Amino acid sequence: MAIATINPATGELLRTFEPLNDSEIGAKIDLAQQVFLKYRHTSFDTRSHLLNSSAEILEQDKAKFAALMTLEMGKTYKSAIAEVEKCALVCRYYAETAPQFLADKSVETDASASFIRYQPLGIILAVMPWNFPFWQVFRFAAPALMAGNVGILKHASNVPQCAIAIEEIFQKAGFEAGVFQTFLIGANKVADIITDDRVKAATLTGSEPAGASLAATAGKEIKKVVLELGGSDPFIVMESADLELAATTATSARMLNNGQSCIAAKRFIVTETIADKFEQLLLQKFQALKIGDPMSTDTDIGPLATPNILQDIDSQVKAAVNNGAKVLTGGNPIDDRPGNFYPPTILKISKENPIAKEEFFGPVAMLFRVKDINAAIELANDTPFGLGASAWSNDESEQKRFINEIEAGSVFINGMVKSDPRLPFGGIKHSGYGRELSIQGIHEFVNVKTVWQK
Ligand code: NDP
Repeated sequence: MAIATINPATGELLRTFEPLNDSEIGAKIDLAQQVFLKYRHTSFDTRSHLLNSSAEILEQDKAKFAALMTLEMGKTYKSAIAEVEKCALVCRYYAETAPQFLADKSVETDASASFIRYQPLGIILAVMPWNFPFWQVFRFAAPALMAGNVGILKHASNVPQCAIAIEEIFQKAGFEAGVFQTFLIGANKVADIITDDRVKAATLTGSEPAGASLAATAGKEIKKVVLELGGSDPFIVMESADLELAATTATSARMLNNGQSCIAAKRFIVTETIADKFEQLLLQKFQALKIGDPMSTDTDIGPLATPNILQDIDSQVKAAVNNGAKVLTGGNPIDDRPGNFYPPTILKISKENPIAKEEFFGPVAMLFRVKDINAAIELANDTPFGLGASAWSNDESEQKRFINEIEAGSVFINGMVKSDPRLPFGGIKHSGYGRELSIQGIHEFVNVKTVWQK
């Protein structure tokens, strides 16, 4: 894939970039290693100050960064502004909490003193996707840099200007050159980087094949990896739920980021008694969404990030229909304008349809009917993925069952799945392993050193 900015709303090629060659990559890894040897000894105060400065730059220039995201991958400008603000929040969160998360923890044993010390590992490679081009990176970088690690970023090839802007933010904030570097490279260079002795660990957010490939290489090198992969989150609606609120939230949860989010609700599982009502509400709300220029503030749905994603969605919908699914709204790419536009789509589908097990990375909702809570939980878990789940019920015993029995990294009751710096984020099954955010996130890339003294 060429490293280039192509406006997804128009298809126009705006800028291309030459990838780094092997000697440039080597020199940058050298720099990262040299800087790590100094940076690891900086105080938490220094790092917090630098991260708080990064937050200020993000906030000051949020309009510029948001426009860049919209230009490169098509998310609506208003959601891009919210994304930049969230990046500032995660910087401030770790600037404040990291000193206590990483403080020595004493443990009473037979020693005169025994305690746990958290030490940085070194260079961490981050392979990141285009869908939240700022957030995914800051979610990794804020805890990693606070822990005293240094980062190298291999960003998705369709968001090179976002990748460059992020390195500039950290430099402008005062981090020494080399603490955080963007590598403009293709996916074919990732294996060489993770095998380099100086690179200690990696994190990847993206597709299952990319995650499996990176983890296989890192596994051979005995290097730690955190994987944040796809999801096909269930959104379960029971009879006691507030249906109006559930349908409104369902629409936001499916349409988040023009439908391209790992934690978007993708499978809507509704009990038969209220299924007709919920279907009507969802249909009205999907049909009311405004599709258009992502820069315009009244647009709800912009284009998909690339022509390939549009093609994939189109093929999946057609395959679902060929296997018996019924289209309630949408169902075909929008072809009366340039760009990768696909309309909000509802597929009434049965669990036997082979496409029901796939992830739709675009604005397509799969709607299932079930007879009771047992069938709802069984269907929710009948997927290779296990990222998030949203369940709607005002019955306490049902709520308890969802919390206990749903196989996922998170369960939200009467709310939409979302990430929050204060709560761990990640999945099980094919959605990946390891956690980001919260205290768990900052403990992923440290040496948890046991110290025992007599
Ligand atoms: P990819 O997994 O291909 O891309 C994500 C990142 O991984 C990019 O930086 C990409 O680089 C890199 N990459 C791709 N292949 C490899 C590899 N073999 N080894 C190392 N790095 C690799 O995602 P796509 O953009 O193709 O999206 C396809 C699917 O991925 C979606 O349908 C969705 O299921 C999932 N996805 C999930 C995301 C999430 O938030 N969990 C985010 C984005 C995608 P390059 O761009 O140069 O190919």
